[in-house]
Amino acid sequence: MPLNTGSEYEFDYESRLMDSGFSEEDGENENSLRPKCLDDYVGQQKVKENLSVFIAAAKERGDNLDHVLLHGPPGLGKTTLSMIIAEELGVNLKVTSGPAIEKSRDLAALLTTLGRNDILFIDEIHRLPRQVEEVLYSAMEDFALDLMMGKGPAARSIRIPLKPFTLIGATTRAGQLSSPLRDRFGMLFRLEMYEPEELTQIVTRSAGILGIEITKDGAREIAGRSRGTPRIANRLLKRVRDFAQIKGDGIIDGAIASSALTSLDIDELGLDGTDRRMLTAIIKHFGGGPVGLETLAAVTGEESVTLEDVYEPYLLQLGFINRTPRGRCATAGAYRHLGLAVPGGTAEQATLFDD
Ligand code: ADP
Repeated sequence: MPLNTGSEYEFDYESRLMDSGFSEEDGENENSLRPKCLDDYVGQQKVKENLSVFIAAAKERGDNLDHVLLHGPPGLGKTTLSMIIAEELGVNLKVTSGPAIEKSRDLAALLTTLGRNDILFIDEIHRLPRQVEEVLYSAMEDFALDLMMGKGPAARSIRIPLKPFTLIGATTRAGQLSSPLRDRFGMLFRLEMYEPEELTQIVTRSAGILGIEITKDGAREIAGRSRGTPRIANRLLKRVRDFAQIKGDGIIDGAIASSALTSLDIDELGLDGTDRRMLTAIIKHFGGGPVGLETLAAVTGEESVTLEDVYEPYLLQLGFINRTPRGRCATAGAYRHLGLAVPGGTAEQATLFDD
């Protein structure tokens, strides 16, 4: 069956996030670094507070938790959070992803094997095939599967009852979800990028699990260059460990972290070569923008989906680019970060240079 479970699952485009020294070992260790309960899950305070109420209420009633939609950029903790929800509820979790469910019968095979109140986690739920999505509607609403058996005049519809379950959908693109699907989720949570102090906590915790000695400054340095993203923080921690082992005494302090990350071409804000290529392209080839995403993808040699899902959210958060109806524009902050003079600009850009 074309299903991905547990640690096997990965966004393949994410491995491109850091092309400097990514190895299989990173994927293998990911599960060991995942917090197992809400208390250990750093940050996302509002989401945690709300979820803990809904989890406690569902548990007290012995009901299934209402369906949950988690959205936000990759690596912010959507999969981890669903594993924690299952753990806290004391139910089983099945993990799959939208593109892995090709046919209605794949979905049926998953749903009919769920126990009472179990959880089905569908990552990249915006990529579910249309006909599968339609079968999911009645499953979510009535806990029943309406399937068509046979073809032509002999075709008939059968209804298979399901045990109450919870669907947790994760997506980097809530906007791409059809409204009938979105409306069937009882809870929608947007995960935010993490603050440097939260990432420092995550790096320190991960170092403890991996048996890495790290100073507060070392953890802060890595956290500050992790683009607000725990997965990146953990990945950088492992890479810096290698530098500390070979070029230092094995202990990660601020200086070794800083020089290791600079060697990896990650600047003090966490931007890598692709970020800089993207900003430079907007500024040098297109006079600061606006420029369309497809054009940018062609110029930088990245896929537009990677630029939009992986790179853009952080550049937007830093205020280095802006989305306008006619495309992306570089802001004054981007010029300054690249050490370039801020131009007068066009009327459309002028508003971006007011800061
Ligand atoms: P997503 O599903 O959003 O892509 P994951 O849940 O796979 O992200 O998280 C990636 C890694 O980041 C996990 O292995 C986990 O160790 C770490 N992580 C994510 N969120 C947190 C958090 N809130 N606290 C601590 N570690 C986290």
